[in-house]
Amino acid sequence: APVSEGVVNGDKWPRFADLGGMEQVLDQLLVEVLVPLRRLELPNYLGVRPVAGLLLYGPPGCGKTTLAHAIANETGVPFYKISAPDIVSRVSGGSEENIRGLFQKAYRTAPSIVFIDEIDAIASKRENREMERRIVTQLMTCMDEFHQNIGGDGSDVDSSKKKPGYVIVIGATNRPDAVDQALRRPGRFNRDIYLGVPDVNLRKQILMMLAWKLRLEGQFDFLKIARATPGFVGADLKALVNNAGYLAMKRLINKRRAQYCSEVKVKWWKQLSWDAGEME
Ligand code: ATP
Repeated sequence: APVSEGVVNGDKWPRFADLGGMEQVLDQLLVEVLVPLRRLELPNYLGVRPVAGLLLYGPPGCGKTTLAHAIANETGVPFYKISAPDIVSRVSGGSEENIRGLFQKAYRTAPSIVFIDEIDAIASKRENREMERRIVTQLMTCMDEFHQNIGGDGSDVDSSKKKPGYVIVIGATNRPDAVDQALRRPGRFNRDIYLGVPDVNLRKQILMMLAWKLRLEGQFDFLKIARATPGFVGADLKALVNNAGYLAMKRLINKRRAQYCSEVKVKWWKQLSWDAGEME
């Protein structure tokens, strides 16, 4: 079954609004990925071939996985995930059939996304062992076969005469140079986008996005925090914001504990309650 990251308050998570500092990336994706996923008739009308494979690369924690999920949630298309290390480590075999089956499912429900996390694990030139080589070959066959015939709306994929709908394959890696060149040819991963370590302005944007639900005091200076966190990636900033939230909770609880503890000796914390006014 298709997977999506999660549901928060009845809404699919993550969305683009959950990612900070991604305006430029989203601009690039608009023409090449977002519009083709929703409106394949436009590239078809112009005779333009949509991107077959998109490689998201950059250091860990910069939002590659989150962005891929957000693309699925925003465009409302099914998302099929392959974890490359899992596929390679399967002892019982069947990895190639699994990949093929997944692609078939993706084409039946097109437009859709196939996401391959840590793609360097199967497509690394250095560790080109027999197993990896067979998996890469299968992956390329699936991408080539289906992409050549692209053009339908996906509803007619079962009929051999008609064309299948659009499936984009998104790969994520920390080691783009380790990805097999054979996978970078036209019709395969022919587009890449770098998600890098954010600079001070991007960090400010990410912090503002991460903190929008937090109860903050007066005029909070995000730039000050951004300046104090060089080298932090999105994941680090998220942890920072969460920890700050926990510290605030701890402060409130400790304040209350001091009041309670003399009176209620056992399970004092179960009696905690606050009025909005007290929490300020
Ligand atoms: P890895 O290579 O380790 O898989 P990744 O690049 O795929 O890392 P994610 O797993 O997408 O990174 O991000 C890790 C966490 O950091 C997620 O919870 C995500 O919400 C958060 N995060 C990363 N980048 C951003 C960003 N630009 N804005 C908001 N949150 C971000």
